[in-house]
Amino acid sequence: MNYIDEIKARVAQQNPGMPEFHQAVEEVLESLRPVIEKNEEKYRKVALLERITTPERVIMFRVPWVDDNGQAHVNNGYRVQFNGAIGPYKGGLRLHPTVNLSVMKFLSFEQTFKNSLTGLPMGGGKGGSDFDPKGKSDQEIMRFCQSFMTELYRYIGEDTDVPAGDIGVGAREIGYLFGHYRRIRGSYVGGVLTGKGLSYGGSLARTQATGYGLLYLTEELLKCNGKSLKGLTVAVSGAGNVATYAIEKAWTLGAKPVTCSDSTGWVYDPDGIDVATLKEVKEVKRARLTEYVKARPNAQYHEGKGVWTVKCDVALPCATQNELLLDDAKALVANGCFCVCEGANMPTSLDATKYLQDSGVLFCPGKAANAGGVSVSGLEMCQNSERRSWSFEEVDNMLHEIMVGIFHNVDNAAKEYGMEGNYVAGANIAGFLKVADAMLLQGIV
Ligand code: NDP
Repeated sequence: MNYIDEIKARVAQQNPGMPEFHQAVEEVLESLRPVIEKNEEKYRKVALLERITTPERVIMFRVPWVDDNGQAHVNNGYRVQFNGAIGPYKGGLRLHPTVNLSVMKFLSFEQTFKNSLTGLPMGGGKGGSDFDPKGKSDQEIMRFCQSFMTELYRYIGEDTDVPAGDIGVGAREIGYLFGHYRRIRGSYVGGVLTGKGLSYGGSLARTQATGYGLLYLTEELLKCNGKSLKGLTVAVSGAGNVATYAIEKAWTLGAKPVTCSDSTGWVYDPDGIDVATLKEVKEVKRARLTEYVKARPNAQYHEGKGVWTVKCDVALPCATQNELLLDDAKALVANGCFCVCEGANMPTSLDATKYLQDSGVLFCPGKAANAGGVSVSGLEMCQNSERRSWSFEEVDNMLHEIMVGIFHNVDNAAKEYGMEGNYVAGANIAGFLKVADAMLLQGIV
């Protein structure tokens, strides 16, 4: 058996019942074939693929908390420190009922290559809990975050592991987590978390970074393929942090975003999604999208899935993993969509990705397209170390430069290995080579 097939079998055998993790490993390893074949002896000798597909450390813990009625609950807490070869582990915390070890391993594995692509010194990690923040009071959220941090604090630090936000973890949760860390550590370690509030060490433009970065990369990708975002119709899924700022930046760059969605339904607004209304509904009221259409009489609300049935030129999946499946890909292509860039992590299934690529759609995977968030987190760490803050324009300009750089890094890697235009392969190869090189230089660790 060749080395890649051996490793795929090994991962499947050692991680039973972890489909998301298998899917992420499959996607990365398949596109690394030309690189591995060229270096097989060297990599085998040091068990490089065995090590790169095995987390350095998995931490699992109990998170007990008490609700407003005095009832106790227990959730599962996780932190997966996947690969620290190029810097401290870095990656978000997710609070969502679907969180389990498979999801945590897939996200931290992906994060390793994404962080490598940014060019900043950050390893890959991810964490979270199956706690559902929906419908919980502020006090319940605070008590949960404090209980979670009571365990997590032992394993993190500005030079060790630096968590941030993800699904279900925004400014409010990061505030509670940071406050409790500071209290139990008895010292002010500003760089231990990113996504902090501006009054205590956060970076300007971190909130916008993933959505804006996604659009900067999409614009560069289109430009390099002789196209422009101006005048295009864009379908976006999600209505959270990434989706909201993707929609905002799409407008700025001259496109018209016409959809958004949440876990219960989706909105089509023929006049284009109104960013102020969306923010009011989701960020201020934390309400459902049914509230959006009350304020926008021309917009339509539909229950369930359906964003990808709308006629569009560009699709930006920004909600969660496996939300764009084969039938969705077929509907997009049939409706003339020619570009898909992933704002979420692994939103497109493997067969849907293949269908899009085979149909000539320009497809950029999340590990490149959504790297803007972690890039600005890296810039937040720089500002914390320097004990100063940069202006919005400074951070936004650096974000733009990083996203353009990521696209060319990915594009060049694909060309170098004879797969021009295959940005999935390009992202995996470019992300992998830097981590692999660092691992080779550091010995068997
Ligand atoms: P948010 O929690 O702010 O928003 C998530 C959105 O997706 C919400 O609209 C939510 O709907 C919807 N959603 C979540 N889970 C599901 C589900 N199982 N089915 C359908 N819809 C769902 O998260 P973010 O915007 O921060 O993250 C979105 C994606 O982007 C994730 O994949 C995340 O890992 C990725 N990402 C985020 C980064 C960041 O900086 N925030 C950085 C890089 C990647 P509802 O409100 O109803 O739950």
